[in-house]
Amino acid sequence: MTKITVVANSNTALPASPFKGCHLIDGAWQESSDGATFERISPSHGVVASNSSRGTAADVDAAVAAARKTFDKGDWPLSSGKDRATLLLKVADLIDRDRERIALLEVLESGKPISQAKAEIEGAADLWRFAASLARTMHGESHNTLGRDMLGVVLKEPIGVVSIITPWNFPFLIVSQKLPFALAAGCTCVIKPSEMTPSTTVILGELLIEAGCPAGVVNIVLGFGDPVGTAMTTDPRVDMVTFTGSTRVGKSIVAATSGTLKKVSLELGGKNPQVIMPDADLDSAVDAVVFGVYFNAGECCNSGSRILVHEDIAEDFIARTKDLSAKVPFGDPLDPATQVGAIISADHQAKIHAYVQAAAKSGASVRLGGEALPIDGLDGRFYQPTIVADVSPDMPIAREEVFGPVLSVLTFKTLEEAISIVNDAEYGLSAGIWSENVHTCLEFARRARAGTIWTNTWMDGFPEMPFGGMKESGQGRELGRYGLEEFLETKTVTMRIGATRSPWVA
Ligand code: NDP
Repeated sequence: MTKITVVANSNTALPASPFKGCHLIDGAWQESSDGATFERISPSHGVVASNSSRGTAADVDAAVAAARKTFDKGDWPLSSGKDRATLLLKVADLIDRDRERIALLEVLESGKPISQAKAEIEGAADLWRFAASLARTMHGESHNTLGRDMLGVVLKEPIGVVSIITPWNFPFLIVSQKLPFALAAGCTCVIKPSEMTPSTTVILGELLIEAGCPAGVVNIVLGFGDPVGTAMTTDPRVDMVTFTGSTRVGKSIVAATSGTLKKVSLELGGKNPQVIMPDADLDSAVDAVVFGVYFNAGECCNSGSRILVHEDIAEDFIARTKDLSAKVPFGDPLDPATQVGAIISADHQAKIHAYVQAAAKSGASVRLGGEALPIDGLDGRFYQPTIVADVSPDMPIAREEVFGPVLSVLTFKTLEEAISIVNDAEYGLSAGIWSENVHTCLEFARRARAGTIWTNTWMDGFPEMPFGGMKESGQGRELGRYGLEEFLETKTVTMRIGATRSPWVA
């Protein structure tokens, strides 16, 4: 029986009282119109982490009205790139200043490890800085070749009022993949964080006010998908919805927005394969596979949750992956040594376990883990690092998003077969290959149907590089200059210069 590495009971003190979060509407912090609130219990420590206002349709109505008024009548959409960049850079500095405070709350609400949360907050500040650089450099185009009397200018303008709906797995990072880009474009926004992780978005609102963000430019409504998310996607005053979360809700948003034909940008699920060729650097590949599947307890759209290993090296690869998996410290997310923390909710833990049990019933073999992981002294939910081998491509565990620390192992004989298994999928978020042969890597990179391809690495991301999915993994892109483009309209201005237009009527 392989022994799993467990970290219990950090010395970090829990906050004396829960964080109190309200809506930010037109520059003011407000309770809900009906006074309702909701609590978030920490998934790792069982304490009340936060108490938040529970938004109503009337709260969304007020927030959208503020964003609309500010866009239509305020100065923000016409402000200079310099002014927008100045604000974004100030927010980045304030995020750095408050990193510890934000990280602690992120851990208590999401269950992710403190060292990872700090790194994510640092990465988020970098996104605000990158978006500042885009605010100053974005431009349209000019056409000076339309003939002697004509000049054409293509203007880039902010799309308008944007609804931003975010999930619970990377609360601060994901809002920072959207909001600074929308602000750089000159949009005004209404944000709804997940009801499980609302508080760090509230802190971001505080930092925006401190940095001098004008009232009404950023509005935040806390609460549940119904009614807050629904109202944010159906309101005719909203021009665009940007959403990260499940494919199921993504599809319902596309349906909800069709009545008013809003632009919709979606970052949805993934079932991201890594192909391990026999000539791969196996030490490096094993480490990346272990990182890819256990990072954020597997609650990650980019989770490397299925691997395709060449049959000649499969048993050796599984044995090495099992040994390394057992060394990953699972446990108290407040302990700096912990690399994998708690599972977000009891329902979600049950869903993870059901996938493992169903696979075992269908003939797959559980080589490691496969059970809940009680941790001494912690009133939380944890799941063992789990490896399921002998998985066939048609099993749900090979096709659907488990969103837990569960690795599915499939095998193949030829690169052609591997590419066909990779592409026989509803999702197309990311995919990777491990081989020392550059031709093999390029062949895979060009033929795999996914928005991101990694060769001899996994889950490296940069603000400069666009991110998003093909097929049911989404539409549109975040990050890079494409991430800004999503929030821009294109306007054609055609001008006659000097000479009078020749008359149509003789
Ligand atoms: P959801 O897709 O349900 O939630 C994401 C966000 O959308 C939350 O803020 C949620 O609100 C909101 N929402 C829910 N319903 C609506 C609606 N009808 N209109 C507008 N907004 C809505 O994800 P879950 O949190 O329920 O997770 C379920 C599964 O989704 C996970 O098990 C995982 O497989 C996948 N997932 C994928 C993510 C990714 O990054 N691709 C991220 C998170 C989850 P609220 O929850 O507050 O009610």
